[in-house]
Amino acid sequence: MIRYALHCEHGHAFESWFKNSAAYDKQAKRNLVTCPICGSAKVAKAIMAPRLSRTDAVEPASAPAALPPPPPPAPTPSAAPAKQPVAIMSSHERELRKKLKELREVITRNADYVGARFPEQARKIHYGEAEQRSIYGEASPDEAKELHEEGIEFHPLPILPDEFN
Ligand SMILES: [Zn+2]
Repeated sequence: MIRYALHCEHGHAFESWFKNSAAYDKQAKRNLVTCPICGSAKVAKAIMAPRLSRTDAVEPASAPAALPPPPPPAPTPSAAPAKQPVAIMSSHERELRKKLKELREVITRNADYVGARFPEQARKIHYGEAEQRSIYGEASPDEAKELHEEGIEFHPLPILPDEFN
């Protein structure tokens, strides 16, 4: 491919690509090379200019690819003492909270409440000493840790802020 800088009889400058110089001559002779601005077929080759201007022209991509931006810095875990999370809720969060409440209701409706016997009952189910079923109850942090260490899978129930009151 060869790029020619061309201009028409009205002085409009434009550029065009041709397979080779012979192709340009052939097309120009048959009035197939026309000015994109006025449509005139009376065009002539301009002297090939070095690439000083017209950097906006279509050119094969030779510029080095831009490096991807560096990843954002990882959030540093905060060492702040544990505080009770508090929030002012928008309507969206209120909706979410409602869903959380519903989820909690579904869990508790379909599970047996075992209260403080939760760790004991969870173990019995885990080790096949009791029938597989959903249970919920209370476990102290230590008990929860022990259950986790034994590979017993359980999940904290979503607790809603107003239940502390
Ligand atoms: Zn023209």
